[in-house]
Amino acid sequence: MFASDYLTVGNIYTRKELQRQFQIKDATINTGVFRPSGYDSIWLFITELKPKDRPQLHDKLEGETLYWDGQPTGRTDKLIIHHQTQGLELLVFYRHHKDEFPGAGFKYEGRFNYISHEGSEPAHFILKKQSLSLEEIVTKDIEALLIEEDIKTIYQAGKTMPTLVNTYERNPKLRTEAVKLHGTRCQICGFSFAETYGELGKDYIEAHHLQPIASYQNQEEVDPQEEMVVVCANCHRMLHRNPEKPLMPEILQSIVVSRKQKVEEDE
Ligand SMILES: [Zn+2]
Ligand SMILES: [Zn+2]
Repeated sequence: MFASDYLTVGNIYTRKELQRQFQIKDATINTGVFRPSGYDSIWLFITELKPKDRPQLHDKLEGETLYWDGQPTGRTDKLIIHHQTQGLELLVFYRHHKDEFPGAGFKYEGRFNYISHEGSEPAHFILKKQSLSLEEIVTKDIEALLIEEDIKTIYQAGKTMPTLVNTYERNPKLRTEAVKLHGTRCQICGFSFAETYGELGKDYIEAHHLQPIASYQNQEEVDPQEEMVVVCANCHRMLHRNPEKPLMPEILQSIVVSRKQKVEEDE
């Protein structure tokens, strides 16, 4: 089991919160290198600016590359060097200085991999951030939406909700294929999540399936080039506003265009 499945990249975590969330009783969580029991994970807690009384170790995160000094005794060096062959993920919790985040928290930077090292006691490591594949990103987006919708159904307890979820749109393989073919810009209104939200919105777009589900027997028959379009969340909601009969994308697009023209004329 990987601890990273229960963590969100970019979130701030204090050691206390992590102890609670992962039910850790082990006091070694207070050291820089930690192995949570029950998880195939190694956690690194890194403070870039060291207190003056501490051994002079040099750690720095530059983009995707982490320059990190191992423990002065070298006790955990082997663990770091061989983490991949041992099936252990390496998770990095980072802060520039002790008081950067409330409660002396750390920012969770994600999974890293060992690249190389030099010297010993301390060994100077180079680690690299593991980037997600497009399919992993898409899968996470779909899961996030499903979680959100489940919460909504709890709110509507007792009331039966229509279940007209298009399973092709929630299929990670088809959606990844659609993104590869059509890109990440809404094909209806031109919206780009990356343009508006920067790094947070990178690679995000939804896929809309053009055919009614009932007319297909299995997934292989769906052609993402011809039968799927990529759309922003707003346009997607509008396409499905009538759940029994999704709107044709061309019709929604003509609505968007004519509304834009009207706004421009009024100005
Ligand atoms: Zn749109
Ligand atoms: Zn759709």
